Amino acid sequence: MTNKYMYFIANWKMFGGIKSLNSLNKVIKFSISFKKKKFIKIVYCPPNTLINLLSEKVRNSKIFVGAQNCHEKEKFGPFTGSVNAKMLKSIGAKYVIIGHSEVRQIGESNKLINQKIQSAIKSGLKVIFCIGESLQEKKRKSTKKVLTKQIKLGLDKIRNKKSILIAYEPVWAIGSGLIPKPLELFKTINFIKKKLKNNKVLYGGSVNSKNIHQLNSINNIDGYLIGGASQNSKKFIDIIKKTYN
Ligand code: PEP
Repeated sequence: MTNKYMYFIANWKMFGGIKSLNSLNKVIKFSISFKKKKFIKIVYCPPNTLINLLSEKVRNSKIFVGAQNCHEKEKFGPFTGSVNAKMLKSIGAKYVIIGHSEVRQIGESNKLINQKIQSAIKSGLKVIFCIGESLQEKKRKSTKKVLTKQIKLGLDKIRNKKSILIAYEPVWAIGSGLIPKPLELFKTINFIKKKLKNNKVLYGGSVNSKNIHQLNSINNIDGYLIGGASQNSKKFIDIIKKTYN
């Protein structure tokens, strides 16, 4: 149980159509009536196809909207199939996830991530910057080295880091049902916080309503990036309620 200000960020990945928006009714009601609402920040990151509709839907609630990625160029240009931060902002996004491992895995480099972060900040979006080690890297005990490199290159030349949230997401924990051991996670979050003293650090990777008590016992986490469990409103609400009860 906590009384801390926490982020609950839903990453819908490539799931959801127009009908999925109905499932948000429960979360909207919850966000308005929840006794501890002043402690929570809920952000939904649906696929780009739903950002506009979703932001209309949550307009009078306590829910914010984010995108899952953006193009690195700040201006319009001949980049077929791409959407930049400015375009996302114009349809209601306030946040954007950058550096998610599922995007890194298809070739997104630290340098490209850095360009995307710069472009997102210039366009007025808050950034959810994902970092995390793979299973092999964990086994090699190189987690700290990997995180240090991702932070250094990802945030290179970015002086104003105020609008950046860090999401520590071990790649091996995403969608696997596995989470790090409490002490190990505490130490890794602390390690990141020592590097980025003024930034909030969230955890992501198989967060669900069963393991949330264990995660909440680690008191240096500032919130969660939630994939699978965020597609079910009841489970998502449960995670928030269990964090405060
Ligand atoms: C994610 O997509 O960022 C994520 C953490 O997914 P899951 O919760 O499904 O592991």
